[in-house]
Amino acid sequence: MTVNSLKRLLADAGRVLAHEGQGDYVAGHVSLRLPGSPDQFLMKPAGIGLEEMTADNIITVDLDGNKVGGTAGRHNEVYIHSEVLRARPDCAAIVHTHAPYAVAFSSLGKPLLAVSNDGAFFAGGLPVFEETTELIITRTRGEAVARTLGQYGALLLRNHGIVTAAATMEEAVWLALKLNQACHMQLMAEWAGGPKRVGDPQQAKNKGAYASRPDIHNGVFQYVLRRCKE
Ligand SMILES: [Zn+2]
Repeated sequence: MTVNSLKRLLADAGRVLAHEGQGDYVAGHVSLRLPGSPDQFLMKPAGIGLEEMTADNIITVDLDGNKVGGTAGRHNEVYIHSEVLRARPDCAAIVHTHAPYAVAFSSLGKPLLAVSNDGAFFAGGLPVFEETTELIITRTRGEAVARTLGQYGALLLRNHGIVTAAATMEEAVWLALKLNQACHMQLMAEWAGGPKRVGDPQQAKNKGAYASRPDIHNGVFQYVLRRCKE
């Protein structure tokens, strides 16, 4: 893929996330590693909404968090991206949003259950970052988030947001959408008195394993993009 097509993919990821309610005004960001320069990545600039990215305003950043390309501002929370990409050579795409249902759910201090299909995708474990509820604006905090994420694809930043990491942009976005939806489902069950029956853990793991595939990640991404154009 050319750098321009990677920028278009990143911009599309922002549109999909915003369309699905994960925007928080100008907060939240996405990044995509440059395959030809694995120590650098494309990132949403500061000061605009997730859906406002274009090939012209996307910035390029290195693994120390320094901006090396582009003129727009850099998010202070760049260290989520630089440190997760440093720790996870298997990952190329990172999403950080203040996904509202996930944030509300994180305040309950409860484990995420397989209330719906969505919860099944996290049946193998969902780390929760609790070292601070402040923003991740230092390299040390970024390293701590990457440590908490470990080899998982998603985590909750308690009282703050979510981080997802994957080999493809489509999967990182899909994990972000499914995590917010899983939290929404459990919140609804909590509002109704608390879930009494949830998916058997092994069945949930099985379902999560076979229903998370590149064709589904891509299908969901393209579907929401079509909805964005309606
Ligand atoms: Zn944040």
